[in-house]
Amino acid sequence: MKKFLIILTLLFLLIISFILLLITTQKAPLPERKSSPVSEKPPVTTKPLTPSETTLTTPPITTPSDKEPEIPTLPLPKKEDLLLEITIADTGKKQVVFTFDAGAQSISVDSILKSLKKYKLKGTFFVTGNYARKNPDLVRKIAQEGHEIFNHTDNHLNLTKISEASIVAELENADKTISNLTGKTTKPYFRPPYGARDKRVREIAASLGYQCVYWTIDALDWKEGQGITDSYVKKRILDNLRPGTIILMHVGDGITGRILDEVMKEIERKGYMINPLSKSL
Ligand SMILES: [Zn+2]
Repeated sequence: MKKFLIILTLLFLLIISFILLLITTQKAPLPERKSSPVSEKPPVTTKPLTPSETTLTTPPITTPSDKEPEIPTLPLPKKEDLLLEITIADTGKKQVVFTFDAGAQSISVDSILKSLKKYKLKGTFFVTGNYARKNPDLVRKIAQEGHEIFNHTDNHLNLTKISEASIVAELENADKTISNLTGKTTKPYFRPPYGARDKRVREIAASLGYQCVYWTIDALDWKEGQGITDSYVKKRILDNLRPGTIILMHVGDGITGRILDEVMKEIERKGYMINPLSKSL
């Protein structure tokens, strides 16, 4: 019996030790499983392949923006028109446009108005706010005689070198000053001082409702003090005439006032009409 008991306890111990061994071997693979989830994570990272799903789900989120395109689609063409610069009028008509910039002195104003009246013409003036404040009666007179007045900014600064806020102020302040005198807005045209403009300037001006007006011929009358003569300016204009020509002249020098009558007579003799800007495009 004793032998049997010993064998039994030995067997029991053996079984227990076997069970213990089994448990320990089962615990051992556990750390392996801990590491295996790490290797399972890469397949999770392959799920980024489904971003197509996320982009598919995002469009419904952008549905509110579907309402936005409706607003710009109609005004956009207008804005694009404003961004286009005018350098020449309608070339389909045998016509010329005289533009007179006013920013400093007034030497030729009376002569210009006299010539326009004589030939029963309407001229186009680009006036600064500063000029209008200094010459309110002249600006009123120009408007009362039926000529067009557009925006030449407030202080005649180089618009390409000032901030967006300053450009806005330059155009808006000039418009305020001039429209208070004439009762008319200076929109939709502006001429950048010194002809200095770029895409940014045109875009900012367009956002306010202004289109940039450049020129076809710079008469160079403003170079009077640098040796440019009356006959040179006259020849420069008449030799370069073609349908749609926009001529840049100034009220501040003496040349324009002295030659305008003759130049207009000669232009009409050549069969050209002389039109204001707004009726020439
Ligand atoms: Zn100017």
